[in-house]
Amino acid sequence: DYGLSEADPEVRAIIDKEKQRQFKSLELIASENFTSRAVMEAVGSCLTNKYSEGLPGKRYYGGNEYIDELETLCQERALAAFHVDGKNWGVNVQPLSGSPANFEVYTAVLKPHDRIMGLDLPHGGHLSHGFMTPKRRVSGTSIYFESMPYRLDESTGLVDYDMLEKTAILFRPKLIIAGASAYPRDFDYVRMRKIADAVGAFLMMDMAHISGLVAASVVADPFEYCDIVTTTTHKSLRGPRGGMIFFKKDPVLGVDLESAINNAVFPGLQGGPHNHTIGGLAVCLKYAQSPEFKAYQNKVVSNCRALASRLIELGYMLVSGGSDNHLVLVDLRPLGIDGARAEKILDMASITLNKNSVPGDKSALVPGGIRIGSPAMTTRGFTEKEFVAIADFIHEGVQITLEAKQLVSGSKLQDFMKFVTSPDFSFVG
Ligand code: PLP
Repeated sequence: DYGLSEADPEVRAIIDKEKQRQFKSLELIASENFTSRAVMEAVGSCLTNKYSEGLPGKRYYGGNEYIDELETLCQERALAAFHVDGKNWGVNVQPLSGSPANFEVYTAVLKPHDRIMGLDLPHGGHLSHGFMTPKRRVSGTSIYFESMPYRLDESTGLVDYDMLEKTAILFRPKLIIAGASAYPRDFDYVRMRKIADAVGAFLMMDMAHISGLVAASVVADPFEYCDIVTTTTHKSLRGPRGGMIFFKKDPVLGVDLESAINNAVFPGLQGGPHNHTIGGLAVCLKYAQSPEFKAYQNKVVSNCRALASRLIELGYMLVSGGSDNHLVLVDLRPLGIDGARAEKILDMASITLNKNSVPGDKSALVPGGIRIGSPAMTTRGFTEKEFVAIADFIHEGVQITLEAKQLVSGSKLQDFMKFVTSPDFSFVG
């Protein structure tokens, strides 16, 4: 039995290159983070070898005594990390990732073609919340269910709850989804609960982006108001790549969520759980209950505020005017450039972030903004001072994007290429 370097030097070399890339770049993608060595040890362990279809104590294969112990520990830690009582809430830690977790909830509580409302993707929602275009039902969610997205008020950049309420009364959704991939503010769960109750809908929160912040109680608590809470485990939570579904134990709208959701995960949509991921998740959820984790999440938010303030000082327009969480959305349209070009140029300088649509955008491929997140670089020890410097670097990159655009618009493409590969371009040192 050989180690990776001997067994497969080709794959080893690719992993080493990716490790260097992660080490050298300023990682600002809001959905990414660096998990711990302890989590990676569990994920790279013998747990990957075991089949364990079913739940602890109710498996379809033998040899699961330790896997049962592990999954039960993971469930207990999940409930404790999010401060919920095991009498009122249960959790399934088997979802393979965020999108499967969401689809599992939909198949648990909805019938095909039932109606749902989630935040529209161009306004910050996630694909799996029912995204569709006028021409195409893009996400599986919009193929199998009828989706009527709610949106932001474009003048404030905040969720338009009045419009959500009016639309819900007409559309009568069976499920309303809170949560987003690119929304710099908190959700108003009190208001959403009222709307869901008024129309007889389940209320679900997809806290994927902010689950670390929720665990550390630095944002509002969705568990107080929602029936179901889903999450990925690899974003602000800093765990392995996976998903979880929390559900109320008492029946909601006549549905026993516990059995409906557990059955939707297996045998509904998945087979054997990824026990190595569940092992890594258990490790992450122990850390999520520590004072260090709380301090880390506080820094994620204060670093993001420092970044937002500096960008505003530099004259940038931020969607909603700032941030209450781990991300900012910068609207580049007033400068006459788009997020796609800025992303490309910043990427060449090892500043990794992503283009993002901003309210009012016409195209999702060439959107008008960029999304910048603080979790990953906070993990690497950056403080507010470094986040101010990041804002300055991004500003330089945007200036270069503007200059590059002018060069290209004079159709001097060669000059442009020379320019971006010249020493003058290496503005991050
Ligand atoms: N939900 C939200 C809010 C997300 O932002 C994402 C991913 O970015 C997901 C779900 C999907 O997670 P995954 O990529 O693990 O399927």
